[in-house]
Amino acid sequence: MSASYWIGVGLLPNLAPGPHVDIPPPHWRDLAKLLREVFAMEGVDKQQLEEVTSKDLYKRWMADPAAPKVQSRIPDLSWARIWTRLSRASLPALLVDTGFRALHNILPLEVRRHRLQLAPSPACSWCGAEREDTLHFFTLCPRVEEVWACLATAAAAAAGGPIPDQKLLFLDLPLGRAEGPITLTILAYMEWAWSTRGSPAALTTSGLITKARSYQWTFPSLFPAPQLPLLPPPGPAPSPPRPPDTGPAQLG
Ligand SMILES: [Zn+2]
Repeated sequence: MSASYWIGVGLLPNLAPGPHVDIPPPHWRDLAKLLREVFAMEGVDKQQLEEVTSKDLYKRWMADPAAPKVQSRIPDLSWARIWTRLSRASLPALLVDTGFRALHNILPLEVRRHRLQLAPSPACSWCGAEREDTLHFFTLCPRVEEVWACLATAAAAAAGGPIPDQKLLFLDLPLGRAEGPITLTILAYMEWAWSTRGSPAALTTSGLITKARSYQWTFPSLFPAPQLPLLPPPGPAPSPPRPPDTGPAQLG
Protein backbone atom coordinates (compact mmCIF):
# COMPACT_ATOMS: atom_id res chain seq x y z
CA MET A 1 0.00 0.00 0.00
CA SER A 2 1.63 3.27 -1.05
CA ALA A 3 -0.27 5.90 0.93
CA SER A 4 1.14 6.09 4.45
CA TYR A 5 -2.00 7.72 5.83
CA TRP A 6 -3.98 4.67 4.94
CA ILE A 7 -5.57 3.75 8.22
CA GLY A 8 -8.05 1.08 7.38
CA VAL A 9 -10.12 -0.57 4.72
CA GLY A 10 -12.04 2.11 2.84
CA LEU A 11 -10.93 4.86 5.20
CA LEU A 12 -8.29 6.70 3.24
CA PRO A 13 -7.91 10.34 4.31
CA ASN A 14 -6.93 11.24 0.74
CA LEU A 15 -3.93 13.41 1.56
CA ALA A 16 -1.81 14.51 -1.35
CA PRO A 17 1.79 13.26 -1.21
CA GLY A 18 3.86 15.80 0.73
CA PRO A 19 7.12 15.96 2.65
CA HIS A 20 5.55 14.37 5.73
CA VAL A 21 3.39 11.79 4.08
CA ASP A 22 5.61 8.99 5.42
CA ILE A 23 5.33 10.21 8.99
CA PRO A 24 1.74 9.80 10.12
CA PRO A 25 1.02 11.71 13.34
CA PRO A 26 0.62 9.48 16.43
CA HIS A 27 -3.14 9.95 16.65
CA TRP A 28 -3.50 8.52 13.13
CA ARG A 29 -1.52 5.46 14.17
CA ASP A 30 -3.63 5.07 17.33
CA LEU A 31 -6.79 5.42 15.30
CA ALA A 32 -5.54 2.88 12.75
CA LYS A 33 -4.80 0.42 15.55
CA LEU A 34 -8.27 0.87 16.97
CA LEU A 35 -9.89 0.50 13.56
CA ARG A 36 -7.96 -2.65 12.76
CA GLU A 37 -9.24 -4.14 16.01
CA VAL A 38 -12.77 -3.14 15.10
CA PHE A 39 -12.46 -4.51 11.55
CA ALA A 40 -11.30 -7.84 12.94
CA MET A 41 -14.43 -8.17 15.05
CA GLU A 42 -17.13 -10.52 14.03
CA GLY A 43 -20.20 -8.84 12.58
CA VAL A 44 -18.34 -5.80 11.18
CA ASP A 45 -19.06 -5.48 7.47
CA LYS A 46 -15.99 -3.89 5.88
CA GLN A 47 -17.77 -3.54 2.53
CA GLN A 48 -20.11 -0.91 3.97
CA LEU A 49 -17.36 1.56 4.93
CA GLU A 50 -17.21 4.84 3.08
CA GLU A 51 -14.13 6.60 1.79
CA VAL A 52 -13.63 9.98 3.43
CA THR A 53 -11.32 12.89 2.76
CA SER A 54 -9.29 14.78 5.35
CA LYS A 55 -11.57 17.73 4.62
CA ASP A 56 -14.60 15.63 5.55
CA LEU A 57 -12.91 14.58 8.76
CA TYR A 58 -12.04 18.17 9.63
CA LYS A 59 -15.57 19.32 8.91
CA ARG A 60 -17.03 16.58 11.07
CA TRP A 61 -14.55 17.37 13.80
CA MET A 62 -15.33 21.10 13.70
CA ALA A 63 -19.06 20.44 13.82
CA ASP A 64 -18.80 19.79 17.53
CA PRO A 65 -15.57 21.35 18.83
CA ALA A 66 -14.76 21.70 22.51
CA ALA A 67 -15.87 25.03 23.99
CA PRO A 68 -13.05 27.62 24.17
CA LYS A 69 -11.64 28.06 27.68
CA VAL A 70 -12.68 31.70 27.85
CA GLN A 71 -16.35 30.68 27.83
CA SER A 72 -16.08 29.02 31.22
CA ARG A 73 -13.89 31.82 32.53
CA ILE A 74 -16.50 34.47 31.66
CA PRO A 75 -19.74 32.47 31.62
CA ASP A 76 -22.12 35.41 31.69
CA LEU A 77 -21.44 36.56 28.11
CA SER A 78 -23.47 35.40 25.10
CA TRP A 79 -20.70 33.47 23.40
CA ALA A 80 -22.77 32.19 20.50
CA ARG A 81 -23.51 35.80 19.60
CA ILE A 82 -19.88 36.84 20.07
CA TRP A 83 -18.41 34.13 17.85
CA THR A 84 -21.03 34.70 15.17
CA ARG A 85 -20.23 38.39 15.16
CA LEU A 86 -16.49 37.81 15.02
CA SER A 87 -16.74 35.29 12.18
CA ARG A 88 -18.58 37.70 9.91
CA ALA A 89 -17.05 37.05 6.51
CA SER A 90 -16.72 40.67 5.44
CA LEU A 91 -14.53 41.71 8.38
CA PRO A 92 -10.85 42.41 7.63
CA ALA A 93 -8.76 39.39 8.66
CA LEU A 94 -6.21 41.46 10.55
CA LEU A 95 -8.92 42.90 12.80
CA VAL A 96 -10.53 39.53 13.40
CA ASP A 97 -7.17 38.09 14.29
CA THR A 98 -6.46 40.73 16.93
CA GLY A 99 -10.02 40.51 18.28
CA PHE A 100 -9.81 36.75 18.38
CA ARG A 101 -6.56 36.83 20.35
CA ALA A 102 -7.88 39.49 22.74
CA LEU A 103 -11.10 37.58 23.37
CA HIS A 104 -9.23 34.36 23.99
CA ASN A 105 -6.92 36.24 26.35
CA ILE A 106 -3.81 35.22 24.44
CA LEU A 107 -2.39 38.61 23.49
CA PRO A 108 1.01 38.92 25.17
CA LEU A 109 -0.14 41.52 27.70
CA GLU A 110 1.96 42.01 30.82
CA VAL A 111 -0.22 39.78 33.03
CA ARG A 112 0.23 36.92 30.60
CA ARG A 113 3.91 37.63 29.97
CA HIS A 114 4.50 37.73 33.70
CA ARG A 115 2.78 34.36 34.11
CA LEU A 116 5.07 32.95 31.40
CA GLN A 117 8.06 34.51 33.16
CA LEU A 118 8.71 36.84 30.26
CA ALA A 119 8.06 40.04 32.23
CA PRO A 120 9.27 41.03 35.68
CA SER A 121 5.80 42.19 36.78
CA PRO A 122 2.18 42.09 35.60
CA ALA A 123 1.91 45.90 35.87
CA CYS A 124 0.78 48.03 32.94
CA SER A 125 3.77 49.13 30.90
CA TRP A 126 2.07 52.46 30.10
CA CYS A 127 0.51 53.69 33.36
CA GLY A 128 1.96 51.34 35.97
CA ALA A 129 -1.44 50.00 37.09
CA GLU A 130 -1.17 46.76 39.00
CA ARG A 131 -2.38 44.42 36.25
CA GLU A 132 -2.21 44.91 32.51
CA ASP A 133 -4.92 42.45 31.52
CA THR A 134 -7.29 42.62 28.54
CA LEU A 135 -9.83 44.87 30.22
CA HIS A 136 -7.20 47.24 31.56
CA PHE A 137 -5.35 47.49 28.28
CA PHE A 138 -8.42 48.18 26.13
CA THR A 139 -10.86 49.93 28.45
CA LEU A 140 -9.29 51.27 31.66
CA CYS A 141 -5.76 52.44 30.92
CA PRO A 142 -5.39 56.24 30.73
CA ARG A 143 -3.73 55.66 27.35
CA VAL A 144 -7.08 54.65 25.83
CA GLU A 145 -9.46 56.44 28.21
CA GLU A 146 -10.61 59.14 25.80
CA VAL A 147 -11.15 56.81 22.88
CA TRP A 148 -12.86 54.15 24.91
CA ALA A 149 -15.27 56.70 26.41
CA CYS A 150 -16.14 57.84 22.89
CA LEU A 151 -16.78 54.27 21.75
CA ALA A 152 -18.84 53.49 24.85
CA THR A 153 -21.01 56.57 24.35
CA ALA A 154 -21.64 55.82 20.69
CA ALA A 155 -22.40 52.16 21.34
CA ALA A 156 -24.74 53.05 24.21
CA ALA A 157 -26.63 55.39 21.91
CA ALA A 158 -26.93 52.66 19.27
CA ALA A 159 -27.91 49.96 21.78
CA GLY A 160 -30.35 52.15 23.68
CA GLY A 161 -28.51 52.19 27.02
CA PRO A 162 -25.13 51.98 28.71
CA ILE A 163 -23.14 48.78 28.16
CA PRO A 164 -20.63 47.33 30.64
CA ASP A 165 -17.04 47.62 29.38
CA GLN A 166 -16.51 43.89 29.15
CA LYS A 167 -19.67 43.32 27.11
CA LEU A 168 -18.76 46.14 24.74
CA LEU A 169 -15.17 45.01 24.25
CA PHE A 170 -16.28 41.41 23.72
CA LEU A 171 -18.91 42.43 21.11
CA ASP A 172 -21.72 41.09 23.30
CA LEU A 173 -24.24 43.79 22.41
CA PRO A 174 -27.82 43.94 21.25
CA LEU A 175 -27.00 45.84 18.08
CA GLY A 176 -29.44 45.11 15.31
CA ARG A 177 -29.10 47.55 12.43
CA ALA A 178 -25.86 49.17 13.57
CA GLU A 179 -24.19 45.81 14.12
CA GLY A 180 -21.73 45.90 11.21
CA PRO A 181 -20.34 49.38 11.79
CA ILE A 182 -20.06 48.95 15.54
CA THR A 183 -18.43 45.54 15.33
CA LEU A 184 -15.97 46.87 12.78
CA THR A 185 -15.25 50.00 14.79
CA ILE A 186 -14.60 48.07 18.01
CA LEU A 187 -12.33 45.63 16.20
CA ALA A 188 -10.54 48.46 14.38
CA TYR A 189 -10.06 50.12 17.74
CA MET A 190 -8.63 46.93 19.27
CA GLU A 191 -6.22 46.40 16.40
CA TRP A 192 -5.16 50.04 16.54
CA ALA A 193 -4.67 50.03 20.33
CA TRP A 194 -2.71 46.81 20.08
CA SER A 195 -0.52 47.79 17.13
CA THR A 196 0.43 51.11 18.77
CA ARG A 197 1.34 49.45 22.03
CA GLY A 198 4.58 50.89 23.34
CA SER A 199 4.10 54.27 21.71
CA PRO A 200 4.40 57.06 24.28
CA ALA A 201 1.32 59.05 23.19
CA ALA A 202 -2.21 58.37 24.36
CA LEU A 203 -4.81 57.42 21.76
CA THR A 204 -7.14 60.16 20.57
CA THR A 205 -10.68 60.15 19.25
CA SER A 206 -9.61 61.81 16.00
CA GLY A 207 -7.10 59.00 15.53
CA LEU A 208 -9.87 56.45 15.99
CA ILE A 209 -12.06 58.14 13.42
CA THR A 210 -9.23 58.17 10.90
CA LYS A 211 -8.60 54.51 11.60
CA ALA A 212 -12.23 53.43 11.32
CA ARG A 213 -12.72 55.50 8.17
CA SER A 214 -9.82 53.75 6.50
CA TYR A 215 -11.68 50.47 6.97
CA GLN A 216 -14.98 51.98 5.99
CA TRP A 217 -13.41 53.00 2.72
CA THR A 218 -12.07 49.53 2.06
CA PHE A 219 -15.12 47.66 3.25
CA PRO A 220 -18.11 49.74 2.23
CA SER A 221 -20.55 46.86 2.75
CA LEU A 222 -20.23 47.35 6.49
CA PHE A 223 -21.11 50.99 6.27
CA PRO A 224 -24.21 51.19 4.13
CA ALA A 225 -24.45 54.83 3.13
CA PRO A 226 -25.68 57.14 4.43
CA GLN A 227 -25.82 55.40 7.77
CA LEU A 228 -22.74 56.08 9.89
CA PRO A 229 -23.96 55.73 13.45
CA LEU A 230 -20.58 55.76 15.12
CA LEU A 231 -18.51 58.20 13.19
CA PRO A 232 -18.96 61.96 13.35
CA PRO A 233 -18.04 63.73 10.10
CA PRO A 234 -14.46 64.95 9.78
CA GLY A 235 -13.75 68.58 10.56
CA PRO A 236 -16.48 71.06 11.52
CA ALA A 237 -20.06 69.83 11.56
CA PRO A 238 -21.81 70.31 8.21
CA SER A 239 -24.54 72.93 8.02
CA PRO A 240 -28.07 71.54 8.23
CA PRO A 241 -29.74 70.77 4.90
CA ARG A 242 -31.42 73.78 3.37
CA PRO A 243 -35.15 73.74 2.74
CA PRO A 244 -35.75 73.17 -0.99
CA ASP A 245 -37.21 76.61 -1.66
CA THR A 246 -34.03 78.43 -0.53
CA GLY A 247 -31.57 76.13 -2.27
CA PRO A 248 -29.46 77.30 -5.16
CA ALA A 249 -31.18 76.99 -8.49
CA GLN A 250 -28.76 74.51 -9.99
CA LEU A 251 -31.14 72.56 -12.13
CA GLY A 252 -31.97 74.69 -15.07
ZN1 LIG B 1 -2.34 51.20 31.94
